[in-house]
Amino acid sequence: MRTIAILGSTGSIGKQALDVAAAYPEDIKIAALTAHHRKEELFEQVRRFQPLAAGLTSGEVTIPDDVKFCKWYFGKDALRNVVRDIPSSDVLVAVVGMASLSCVLEARKKGKRILLANKETLVAGGHIIMPLCRMDHDNPSLIPVDSEHSAVYQCLQGAQGNRFRRIILTASGGPFRTWTKERMMQAQPSDALKHPKWSMGSKITIDSATMFNKALEIIEAKWLFGAQSHEIRVLIHPESIIHSLVEFEDGVQLAQLGTADMHTPIMYAMQYPKRKPSISGRLKLEDVGTLSFAAPDTERFPAITMAYEVLNLGGMAPCVMNAANEVAVSHYLKGHISFGRIFDTVRHTLDKLSDLSGSDADEILLGDMKARAQAEQYISQN
Ligand code: NAD
Ligand code: MG
Repeated sequence: MRTIAILGSTGSIGKQALDVAAAYPEDIKIAALTAHHRKEELFEQVRRFQPLAAGLTSGEVTIPDDVKFCKWYFGKDALRNVVRDIPSSDVLVAVVGMASLSCVLEARKKGKRILLANKETLVAGGHIIMPLCRMDHDNPSLIPVDSEHSAVYQCLQGAQGNRFRRIILTASGGPFRTWTKERMMQAQPSDALKHPKWSMGSKITIDSATMFNKALEIIEAKWLFGAQSHEIRVLIHPESIIHSLVEFEDGVQLAQLGTADMHTPIMYAMQYPKRKPSISGRLKLEDVGTLSFAAPDTERFPAITMAYEVLNLGGMAPCVMNAANEVAVSHYLKGHISFGRIFDTVRHTLDKLSDLSGSDADEILLGDMKARAQAEQYISQN
């Protein structure tokens, strides 16, 4: 029996994790649930899954009598305090953005396994998170949930101790894969939110349109698998059937395939190492017919080039890129800036802040704040 705390249970990943828990009550018990704003939805989840604790990070609210049986946490420290106080074997980190850094560190302090969907935290703080984690296949202390990294992790099970030569992350190319640069730069949020293959939260959907999602995933791959920048490649694969590949010295490439449904990597992490019957559709390659591939267009999608740049710069550069992107995406979603300005904001912030240090969680959060302030200032002046 696994006991799992789900941080961000009202989000896209969180709700799909609860689908898995509901399908396998004999294997999975929900220890805790947290949400940011959607309190009614959280109350409903608490009634259904009967956790030991629940948290609302946006602040204190009146709790209905029928959910008072569990322990409640409020405010921005709720995530970390839930992880600190509530016993569980695993913590699924499914919140969006940088809010989860301290709870990831707390989970490792408590010896809990991290099921990691959130990529922003790893991009900014991989250098302090990964030394606390084991990524082996016998008793991992971190299992990736991001579909590409789950795929790589699964392919590496076939490595038998051999080091990979390259990790090849696939990318659907997002909604603007075939758009001209001019058209794309003026794209409306309603266009960018129409992802051709995956149904996800709004921040990551915009990141898929700019390909900052793939940029973050390149850095995520560095930290999870100890890969150097020249060992990580991006391959455009519009059908999203191959979720990623690993190439070895002898030229062999192992790939992981499946439908484009996050239930699969979520369940893989929650049930690891067991493989239980799928709760979503099964892949029928005869129905798919053709798989296609292309190199990424870094002229239209400069985020990919920026990822390699910040990887080579090291230090706090990935944190700055991530923070500036989060700020720019939030302004874009509110209609304050054009799509093209997302790239400009990240570029400007990276150029301005090249010498931040971030050797512990406090310094990283400070650097993150400085980068956000710089990005905000750029947006308000332009
Ligand atoms: P979402 O926006 O649907 O849900 C986010 C969750 O986090 C919600 O429960 C929300 O209440 C909570 N939250 C938001 N702001 C918070 C804050 N400041 N403090 C605490 N909690 C907060 O997001 P999502 O699409 O489920 O993505 C979650 C994470 O997983 C992201 O880091 C994303 O990059 C990653 N991811 C998502 C997918 C996907 O298919 N959705 C795939 C791969 C990786
Ligand atoms: Mg992904």
